[in-house]
Amino acid sequence: MDADESVLAKKKHVEFFKMYLYFIPARMFVLDSTRLSIVFFSISGLEILGALSDYNESTRKSMCDWIYSLQIHPDEDGDCSKCGFQGTDTFMTLEDGVAVHCNKMFANGHLAMTYTGLVTLVTLGDDLSRVNRPAIIKGVAALQQEDGSFACTLLGSENDMRFVYCACCICYILQDWSGMDMDKTLSYIRGSFSYDYGFGQGPDLESHGGVAYCAVASLVLMGKLHDVLTPKEYEGLRRWALMKQVAGFQGRANKQEDTCYSFWVGATLKMLDFYEMVNYEENRKYVMSTQCLDTGGFSKVRFSYPDPLHSYLGLCGLSFMGENGLGEVHPALNMSMRAVNCLHKIHQSW
Ligand SMILES: [Zn+2]
Repeated sequence: MDADESVLAKKKHVEFFKMYLYFIPARMFVLDSTRLSIVFFSISGLEILGALSDYNESTRKSMCDWIYSLQIHPDEDGDCSKCGFQGTDTFMTLEDGVAVHCNKMFANGHLAMTYTGLVTLVTLGDDLSRVNRPAIIKGVAALQQEDGSFACTLLGSENDMRFVYCACCICYILQDWSGMDMDKTLSYIRGSFSYDYGFGQGPDLESHGGVAYCAVASLVLMGKLHDVLTPKEYEGLRRWALMKQVAGFQGRANKQEDTCYSFWVGATLKMLDFYEMVNYEENRKYVMSTQCLDTGGFSKVRFSYPDPLHSYLGLCGLSFMGENGLGEVHPALNMSMRAVNCLHKIHQSW
């Protein structure tokens, strides 16, 4: 192993996240439609590295102004079903061969963008006073499906545990659970508990680290973890998650390790109070081996391109093990503990 590989290249990672706040490399242009999520990973990454204070108050405010510009408000008739945040302000279409903005056509809230937008606002020091809370909660309600799951947008989308998680985060952050039928949501989550004691994308489907994270974090945010799982199932879930450690973590049995699962499965073990069973040394060694020392950032596997998602989640995985110089992360909300404390102060003012 290179000597440098065991040292966290903090300065490089700060530069990496700052770069993504200004442009997206050409090979990643398809991510422009969800640009708010890239801003979430970058701002959260800078936050955990203790570098957000590099931006002065006026710059942080202009970042918040941009996020607020993505908020979809009720239409002329007061209909809130599209309310939430959209991911970008650069939706384009071709008209007579010329690219033109078509923001209105796609003006639609998206659950993942609403969640990441709210977290980023709080992380930047905003007090959420410009958030149309009742409208956004109605927008959440419009996306719940008959089976209790959530779609991410009204434009036609998948519906699964990822968006159940986003809906729970939004309801928790806005302190209003009227946007979901909680019994239906619980029944959907319960129905995804699998034969192998993890959570899959549906009844009796193979369990998956990302789905398990979304299910467990949703239950934690609802305060229902122990209502839904029996003590035996809870123990089985702990064991299932722990067995996903190879050196780093894999998302499913027999798959290759991937840096992001040091967060998804690591956070799950934190919420299940079982993280102390992790082999820290092996986990750290794997995550650090995916650190890119040339450009900063982390990739999913060694010698691959780094990206903002794996970079931020890799840092979170290191933070769980008490890595020197990294801030703490709230495992269920996936935001810094400092920002969660700010959020709780905001809640007291409502
Ligand atoms: Zn990954």
